Amino acid sequence: MGRVYNFSAGPAVLPEEVLKEAAEEMLDYRGTGMSVMEMSHRSKAYDNIIKEAEADIRDLMNIPDNYKVLFLQGGASQQFAAVPMNMMKNGKAAYIITGQWAKKAYQEAQKYGEAVAVASSADKTFSYIPDCSDLDIPEDADYVYICENNTIYGTKFWQLPNTKGKDLVADVSSCFLSEPVDVSKYGVIYGGVQKNVGPAGLVISIIREDLIRDDVPAYVPTMLKWKTQADADSLYNTPNCYAIYICGKVFKWIKKMGGLEAMKKHNEAKAKILYDFLDESKLFKGTVEKKDRSLMNVPFVTGNADLDAKFVAESKAAGLENLKGHRTVGGMRASIYNAMPIEGVEKLVEFMKKFEAENA
Ligand SMILES: *Cc1c(COP(=O)(O)O)cnc(C)c1O
Repeated sequence: MGRVYNFSAGPAVLPEEVLKEAAEEMLDYRGTGMSVMEMSHRSKAYDNIIKEAEADIRDLMNIPDNYKVLFLQGGASQQFAAVPMNMMKNGKAAYIITGQWAKKAYQEAQKYGEAVAVASSADKTFSYIPDCSDLDIPEDADYVYICENNTIYGTKFWQLPNTKGKDLVADVSSCFLSEPVDVSKYGVIYGGVQKNVGPAGLVISIIREDLIRDDVPAYVPTMLKWKTQADADSLYNTPNCYAIYICGKVFKWIKKMGGLEAMKKHNEAKAKILYDFLDESKLFKGTVEKKDRSLMNVPFVTGNADLDAKFVAESKAAGLENLKGHRTVGGMRASIYNAMPIEGVEKLVEFMKKFEAENA
């Protein structure tokens, strides 16, 4: 059996070229006689891999020199704790609740200080992004926190909140490297890489240097103190070597594709095919307010749970995998990350048309 079109929300599809190259290098990485999985993280060969990965992501995102790039473990969820541990000086932060991941981060922050929910879209099942132009942000808040692309609900902040001068922290797990970004607008940008960049278990945190502090509370574990990792160039302990290696290949793939501008065009073209169909369909409908639609995660429903289940089963049989919606939302969700080719989305819409004709 060949490869399927994989619409998984994460871990998710990776560029086939990258997987093939990794396969070719599996037994003998460029004359070292060993796999990247088998080599010391202190070796010359590995040093090149991690340094090149950092240089490439800096280049792609145009990351200013006063930001550190850290390759950390524990996934995005580990940063839910690391952010308040490292950033709460006044013990207070403002959270914008636009879905489950934002809510989890907010709940985690409450363990270490006062997390204030300054806006939420929970009233309409997180189907929109609240107006964040004039929020009641506490004077002494250490930062304002958002989940920029809501993987489960399919919404995206197309305009960053007015933080009233506070540092912005963004979880970009599901929109990482999907479009150009002005890093200087953020204090911290971080993302688990398994949605759009690489294998699970690695989180990349891009942190403005002045936010990397030595005077964190004594209880903060050594490993969760950003300064520990910043001082050691992400090699305080053994990092997720193989995941960093694959991410490095994905960075090179994105560069070859034309960089983040080109990625954005590619992603817009794919999303348009799907959203245009949803807008005209008599059977399927999108669940998100149009202005807040994500380019990466597209949830949709038929309005009939049995028909949704039938769709998921039949689409799978047709080689379109992982279209079942998140267990808390139901319906369907197509995640169409960078590595999803346009043909995958065309095939999906073709299948949806056929299903609609058969089930109308
Ligand atoms: C998947 C996801 C997470 C959780 O990532 P882990 O690496 O599993 O901790 C957090 N935030 C967002 C936006 C996600 O999509």
